[in-house]
Amino acid sequence: MLTKIELTKFKKILEQKRDELERVVSNRDAITIEKSADALDEVQHAAERELAIRNLDRESNLLRSVRLALRRLDDNSFGTCLHCEEEISPKRLNAVPWAAFCIQCQEQADRHREDGEDELLEDMLSNAA
Ligand SMILES: [Zn+2]
Repeated sequence: MLTKIELTKFKKILEQKRDELERVVSNRDAITIEKSADALDEVQHAAERELAIRNLDRESNLLRSVRLALRRLDDNSFGTCLHCEEEISPKRLNAVPWAAFCIQCQEQADRHREDGEDELLEDMLSNAA
């Protein structure tokens, strides 16, 4: 079990991370479609835009994970794997405070993802939400 001190520490880390990500994600509107007469510029802009959108996707997903972790802190389920309900190791939580799954379940989910079963983790997360 995590001590109150540890939980407070994780809460602080998660809140900081959430604020940081919210700032980044709220800049989403900053991605504008720049028109250029120069065809080469067009290509360059399109590539930059695509990269920015991909980064935002990742950050939005991370933000969601961080928010869910904060909610688990509130309802005292933080540090427990959403899938097998075993405790997530403190070492893992220190590395990834918003981890929703223990390392075994995460590896399993990652394997499924590589197999093209992208929805599994999504399902697990939305069921938990
Ligand atoms: Zn697990």
